[in-house]
Amino acid sequence: MIQLVRGFKDILPEETPRWQHIEKTVRTLFEDFGFREIRPPILEKTELFKRSIGEDTDIVEKEMYSFEDRNGDSLTLRPEATASVVRSYIQHKMYAADPVQKMYTIGPMFRRERPQKGRYRQFYQINAEVFGIESPLIDAQLIFMLVNLFSRLSVTGIRVHMNSLGCPGCRPDFKKNLSDFLALKKQLLCENCGRRIGRNPMRALDCKVPSCREAVSEAPSILHSLCSNCRSHFEAVSRMLEQQGVGFEVDKRLVRGLDYYTRTTFEIQTGELGAQSAVAGGGRYDGLVEALGGPSQPAIGFAVGFDRLLEILPAKDKNRDAGPEIFVAALGDESVIKAYLWATDLSVAGISSEIDLTGRSLKSLMKRADRLNAAHVLIVGEDELKKGEAILRNMKTKEQYLISVNGIVENIRNIICQ
Ligand code: AMP
Repeated sequence: MIQLVRGFKDILPEETPRWQHIEKTVRTLFEDFGFREIRPPILEKTELFKRSIGEDTDIVEKEMYSFEDRNGDSLTLRPEATASVVRSYIQHKMYAADPVQKMYTIGPMFRRERPQKGRYRQFYQINAEVFGIESPLIDAQLIFMLVNLFSRLSVTGIRVHMNSLGCPGCRPDFKKNLSDFLALKKQLLCENCGRRIGRNPMRALDCKVPSCREAVSEAPSILHSLCSNCRSHFEAVSRMLEQQGVGFEVDKRLVRGLDYYTRTTFEIQTGELGAQSAVAGGGRYDGLVEALGGPSQPAIGFAVGFDRLLEILPAKDKNRDAGPEIFVAALGDESVIKAYLWATDLSVAGISSEIDLTGRSLKSLMKRADRLNAAHVLIVGEDELKKGEAILRNMKTKEQYLISVNGIVENIRNIICQ
């Protein structure tokens, strides 16, 4: 038997109602905040990710699903969405019509990480990206919207961590200080961090290896090295979040190790996911549009881990499999043919219906209706049919109604809409 690929998973029919519930909530919320949906492809040129995520990262070094196309191009299944959205912003010259663009996208990402709970090789993200706005108010609004997403989904116990990464003006000084500091701790650093000390010392700050964590516990904070513009930007974001009642922690270890990432960076953490505590992450990438060949335009965005969000959804929202409005239980060949047509008419009229065509007994039909969580069962036997009647049973209240089969769809609608 052929099984699925390790680290990949099926999202089964009983699970999809929860996915759809989240998707619906996301779409409504983001559109209320002025975002429009974009759907980039999942396959891009490898070069796009090398340049945007950076060669010195775990993703590019060892996690991408890359392959050579038949014409020799190197292609990659996207490990994240921001690069594609930026490419699209540039390629379609969206900035010419209006540099300010607010977009969101929902879809699968691919990273060849070691599979474990909360970490898959195909996982899903919800992304929001804003282009063309430098004001710290957009940073605050994005974080506010993200926190609001969790409250709309009744997810509690999340923490916002926030830091600033400075800008190409003030970061080099910090990187130098940090490299000097790390050089003294070199024996504690893992192989990757040791190797990256010179070029990319900031990666060590968020390395998960315990000895690296220990090494950086006393590392200098970048907040002490910010230039005055970056400091006032960070303060303005913090002030607005405070004013809007969004609690956050300043976290000096929160970094993105690439030069394109600037200023505000943030993560949403939860205590409910064990080792994989980050459920969303984001920040400014004011240099990326230009680095990928576009005009100099500021940008900021975030990615929510869909699979992890599902894990922390409260139990009451986990079982939202609504079931059909009408389960049609017809007994006898003639009734089945008649009832088949009624069931079709019900579906066409927008009343969800399911007719059982397996010829089971009434007892097992009722069991199946229960299992499917049907709201009502329409029972039609040969005797009822002769009288031109059918029975509609409300599965919750157990009330039964005798209805005429003449104009049956309307008769049913009148009862279920009471
Ligand atoms: P990143 O793009 O690495 O900043 O990740 C953003 C969010 O995506 C994280 O906070 C996680 O919630 C989620 N995520 C990242 N990698 C995985 C993975 N392999 N499996 C499941 N979720 C992931």
